[in-house]
Amino acid sequence: MSKLIVGNWKMNCLAEDGTALARGLAEKVKQSSKPSDLALCPPAPLIPLIVEATKNSAVSVGGQDCHWEGLGAHTGDVSASLLADLGCTHTIVGHSERRSDHGETDAQVKAKAEAALEVGLVAIVCVGETEAQRDAGDAEIVIGGQIACSLPTGGTPDTVVIAYEPVWAIGTGRTPSLNEISAIHGFIRGKALESHGLGDGLQILYGGSVKPSNAAEILAIGDVGGALVGGASLTVEDFWGIIESCP
Ligand code: PEP
Repeated sequence: MSKLIVGNWKMNCLAEDGTALARGLAEKVKQSSKPSDLALCPPAPLIPLIVEATKNSAVSVGGQDCHWEGLGAHTGDVSASLLADLGCTHTIVGHSERRSDHGETDAQVKAKAEAALEVGLVAIVCVGETEAQRDAGDAEIVIGGQIACSLPTGGTPDTVVIAYEPVWAIGTGRTPSLNEISAIHGFIRGKALESHGLGDGLQILYGGSVKPSNAAEILAIGDVGGALVGGASLTVEDFWGIIESCP
């Protein structure tokens, strides 16, 4: 299975630079002989522009979040059905910035992931420990709990992707060691099998300060199914450098 590389633009890019970035990547993909599996997750209002900019290319588009209800009175939220209607194929749910900025709970993340599955989107469910939890030796307890309580019921390896993102590695330039990444990905695979029957074929992405200079060694780890990339997904050069690092 090819590695999945997902660009999380967060609250970055305006219409012009976002479109140029997406066009630049779509062009690279078209010119490359190497098959790549990549998705761009722009801010929601940019989705139609990015879908248009990547049309007829192998670049997928995803949301950064979705609401757990189909439609309704939820000011400022975006439904999974609108994401699908606009041409998205994926959506991130439970990113640590949503968990911390908006107090999202595991139960809400699970409901969001189920709403995504309901309309045919692949749910990229984020899990990961804070630095304090890691220092206290609680990383596995935290991640195990997030897996048990945030993954959707009824998901399969084709519809659910887990992104392991240690919170302390996001945007900091710090990453766990390769052995640590390998060990925690193995742990996550075991837990997802135990709690949801998701085992072989489940893609588990690593996220947190992935850049062209460290992508090759991280993506070479057997249990790492790809990367969720924030800062380094904002230029064609850096993001393409990561994509080209796929074994
Ligand atoms: C992220 O927030 O999903 C992320 C991985 O960010 P960065 O790559 O900037 O650490």
